[in-house]
Amino acid sequence: MSGEALLLDVRELLRRPGERRRQTGEHHLSDLGLSTARVPATAAVSFDLILESLTDGMVVTGSVSAPWVGECRRCLEEIGGTIVENVREVFSERPIEGETYPLEGHAIDLAPMFREVVLLGLPMVPVCDLGPSCPNLRRFADVTFEVGGGQASGETPRDPRWAALDELHFRPDAPEH
Ligand SMILES: [Zn+2]
Repeated sequence: MSGEALLLDVRELLRRPGERRRQTGEHHLSDLGLSTARVPATAAVSFDLILESLTDGMVVTGSVSAPWVGECRRCLEEIGGTIVENVREVFSERPIEGETYPLEGHAIDLAPMFREVVLLGLPMVPVCDLGPSCPNLRRFADVTFEVGGGQASGETPRDPRWAALDELHFRPDAPEH
């Protein structure tokens, strides 16, 4: 992980609270993805940020973007796009777990922030832009599923990938309370 750090020296900024500096660029992060969508290994995260010094840290605002690829959850076609996320994060000498990032001496490391922002921005349920004309179950007919331990009879084995869609829809068979 340390090889992926993007350390910025903010010594000059820290000397003058309220001062700002723009920071733009690209940074590679490996294994950046979810089971549903991911940033291609060859792609980089792009950023356009303003660093502003506080009396006891830094605030980083701006945008972070990255290309992604995945499979449409309905027709399984390969799809992709670009996520653009606005950020406003604080780097502090006394970081709070899950809320602020550490200010390490005179430097901040942007890589952990990029990773978190991009992972949160990736689509959990990517669908193709065909919308209603997405071929939907087209491919499922050609796919044979293996159910662990033996083939269940009478009921069509469900692709675990549908579980994500189930989360989004009410279940008619769910008991009501
Ligand atoms: Zn589709």
